[in-house]
Amino acid sequence: MSSEKIWMNGKLMNWEDATVHVTSHALHYGSSVFEGVRAYATDNGPAIFRLDAHTERLIQGCKVAKIDLPYNAEEINEAIINTVAENDHESCYIRPLVMRGSGPWPSGLEGRKCPTDFIIITKEWGTYLGADALEKGANVQVSSWRRMAPDTHPAMAKVGGNYVNSQMIKMEAHDNGFDEGIALDVNGYVSEGSGENIFVIKNGVVITPGDWSSILLGITRDSILTLLREMGYEIRFQTIAREMLYMADEIFFTGTAAEVTPIAAVDRIPIGIGSRGPVTKQVQDEFFAITSGKKEDRHGWLTHIRQAVSEN
Ligand code: PMP
Repeated sequence: MSSEKIWMNGKLMNWEDATVHVTSHALHYGSSVFEGVRAYATDNGPAIFRLDAHTERLIQGCKVAKIDLPYNAEEINEAIINTVAENDHESCYIRPLVMRGSGPWPSGLEGRKCPTDFIIITKEWGTYLGADALEKGANVQVSSWRRMAPDTHPAMAKVGGNYVNSQMIKMEAHDNGFDEGIALDVNGYVSEGSGENIFVIKNGVVITPGDWSSILLGITRDSILTLLREMGYEIRFQTIAREMLYMADEIFFTGTAAEVTPIAAVDRIPIGIGSRGPVTKQVQDEFFAITSGKKEDRHGWLTHIRQAVSEN
């Protein structure tokens, strides 16, 4: 039993009461679109990082998946803010989920007669790839599973069904004793982790795969690109061959869950100094200084919960 509240279809309800029917379309066919968002602790209470960008990606994902979302951006933001406030979190992970629910049975693949369920779950959560990983770095492998070809699944939309691929990458990595896997794209170039974007540093230049490599356009990726540009780094969007990973000076992952996580080794080959490199540390420090409210929020990335609730 938990005292936490889950927001479901317009109402805050007890954790154990937030259930769906077994005939829900999304359970059978992966017809859902979701987000992963973090709220960080600051001196002024919890603050959601890049709420507008997450809400926008959720709306765009529903458009791609042709799922009716009966809420606009303002209503979604308000529901997320109220759920974090109601649960009294200092910091938390937030999971908004839009899914095709239970409709005519059997509904078959054409699920557009099924109603939409919209759910927001929040929970306090620490680091994703292990407590040490932010400093020491993660040990990763190149996965034998590739990312989807661009004409198969919509990689840029955070659709539930896409995450069968991510699960295969993650489980294979764990079974082989690694923290995470890196998938190559359909052409054999580096794409991304199971739930993270990837950055390579070589001779002071920042290299990251472009949107043609079947990546999710990560919101952390976008934030880190902004910070790296401000720091004066040259950034290249390019196709990255697997061996460039082994030759890199530094590699790091970005993601809402992974934040900015250095990569210590790929396929047991140490990367650079074999732990967090200087560019990674510089951008990681700046990222956490902003998310924690210690540095000015110069890009307007934080939504302070207390302030937002008092304005509503
Ligand atoms: N790629 C994939 C496949 C993901 O699931 C995620 C996590 N949402 C990311 C990259 C990183 O995206 P973001 O920074 O928006 O969390």
